[in-house]
Amino acid sequence: MSKRIAVLSEEVANQIAAGEVVERPASIVKELVENALDAGAGDIRIELVRGGCESIRVTDNGSGILRDDVALVFERHATSKISRIDDLGRIASFGFRGEAMASIASVARVDLLTRRPEDLAGTKAAVEAGFISEIAPAGLPPGTQITVTKLFANVPARRKFLKTEATEQSACLDAVTRLALVHPHVRFSVVADGREVFAAPAAKDVSRRIAMVLGQDFVGRSREIGGQRGPVRLRGFVSTPDFTRSNAKGIFLFVNSRFIRDASLGHAVLAAYRQVIEPRRYPAAVLFLDLPGEDVDVNVHPAKLEVRFKNSREIYDLVATTVAQALAAARTAPDAVAYRLAPRESSSAASGFWKPRETAPLRERPAEVYTRRNLQQAIETDWLRRSESTLPATEAAQAKPDAPRITFADRGYLGQFAGTYLAFGGSDGLTLIDQHAAHERIILERLKASAASRGASQPLLMPEVVSLPPAQIALFADALELLSNIGLELEIFGRDALVVKALPADLIGVPPADLISDLADQLAGEAKLSLACRKEKILASLACRAAIKANTSLCGEEVATLCRDLEQTPFNATCPHGRPVSVHFSLYEIERLFKRR
Ligand code: ADP
Ligand code: MG
Repeated sequence: MSKRIAVLSEEVANQIAAGEVVERPASIVKELVENALDAGAGDIRIELVRGGCESIRVTDNGSGILRDDVALVFERHATSKISRIDDLGRIASFGFRGEAMASIASVARVDLLTRRPEDLAGTKAAVEAGFISEIAPAGLPPGTQITVTKLFANVPARRKFLKTEATEQSACLDAVTRLALVHPHVRFSVVADGREVFAAPAAKDVSRRIAMVLGQDFVGRSREIGGQRGPVRLRGFVSTPDFTRSNAKGIFLFVNSRFIRDASLGHAVLAAYRQVIEPRRYPAAVLFLDLPGEDVDVNVHPAKLEVRFKNSREIYDLVATTVAQALAAARTAPDAVAYRLAPRESSSAASGFWKPRETAPLRERPAEVYTRRNLQQAIETDWLRRSESTLPATEAAQAKPDAPRITFADRGYLGQFAGTYLAFGGSDGLTLIDQHAAHERIILERLKASAASRGASQPLLMPEVVSLPPAQIALFADALELLSNIGLELEIFGRDALVVKALPADLIGVPPADLISDLADQLAGEAKLSLACRKEKILASLACRAAIKANTSLCGEEVATLCRDLEQTPFNATCPHGRPVSVHFSLYEIERLFKRR
């Protein structure tokens, strides 16, 4: 049975189009703030109620709208920003499609107040589910205020896709952050449920704005970059290799002041870092590309989040080489080394983290020369008896070509391979252990055990203040109790900082700023999960950050401790992400490879 073809009603067509532009409160915030910027506003205030799910209000001091044009604001393809197709090649505004307001009004109620500075009176208008209910004169200050309520009231299926209010609020703040970065001269403020959560006063230049919105921590650990190829100019800031995040969301790309997502340019940035940061860690960067309007097409995505370049290859090269040069100039020692040395150098306060336990302080030992034989004996005694070790953890000992043998069950330690894998030989074959995966699993199980017994928390002698961008602070608001249950005592401290007061004992010694930054990434990606599921994911994120990294050389004693702990850990065949901890090659397989069998 074939159905007849019919043209959709305007109402339905608008709702379908809205799906492309209005996904969640943050998409509305983006469109409203872009309109305010296009109207030349110097001061923009955003008010959110319940993460924007209940109401979003944007107030600006821009050029306002003529009363006769107010009805057109809500018409599709009605815009004051372009009039001819040629204009598309030289767009200087964020908007040009004339779709956003029509889309928003088709899925929500919109109240508009506006007055041009040159007019004596302003105009108020209300639109609900696409229909204008009133347009009337009103006494108002100059500028425009738009209030959006009843979001998705007429499309309940969409409401179900909204995440928690904290997550939606954080996404709204992300949208404001991106726009604030390219408009340093404009003042932005965001008030959520009556409290100011984001404040960026007008700044002199982009670098000051970056400090305000991305945090002092990023600024302290980033380098300014700049490069040019033909008419294409690149400027920005990239993090040094000691500042990494667990996902690529700290990479901001702007093309002619427009925030975009571009897999290829993201790849260009990562390629520059490949040699200097570990796998599965990501840098942070704020990059501004400026190029002639005719070399880039911004009209390829409804929310204009993607663009198309005429010379994409050249731009890729410009980004990759400029970032790589900056990194080569700023190369710092990887923090992995600092982690490993810190607990050993400091006193007993820093117990727990990767410190060989039951070991007397190194400095009290006489400087002995260890021969290969007594070294080996010392390690084996330690391993077999599981009693106090007498092995000194000198770097010299592990640097020797004839590295110590450590028995791991009936296997002997052969050495570390590629800075990451620990090789063991036995009568039954060859075993490789991924040191990061193994340690991650050990820490996760310890964290789980201590969280369950509620004996987890260890107060910090000096509570540590961690600076974070406001969008990330928003995520912690409804996670504080859950985090406290697992031993992480935090307090929100103003708009852009947290105080870490206590940590699970197994995490003492890991820089709190690193743990918090990964946790923020974890919380940002969360859907509405069950409590147990959230807890497990949070613990896994903490374990991942605390675990010894790939490309860290381990001394014999550290390997022995790792093996011993691993043996006592449940679920030790895989890391928390499900990757294997060890891989075994049987003697039979090896002999087959050598055609001996
Ligand atoms: P676009 O931004 O693509 O032109 P929109 O649907 O976002 O389309 O907005 C339609 C029109 O409404 C804009 O072209 C502009 O003239 C007017 N407008 C919307 N918001 C504002 C504002 N805050 N100040 C002044 N004019 C506005
Ligand atoms: Mg617009």
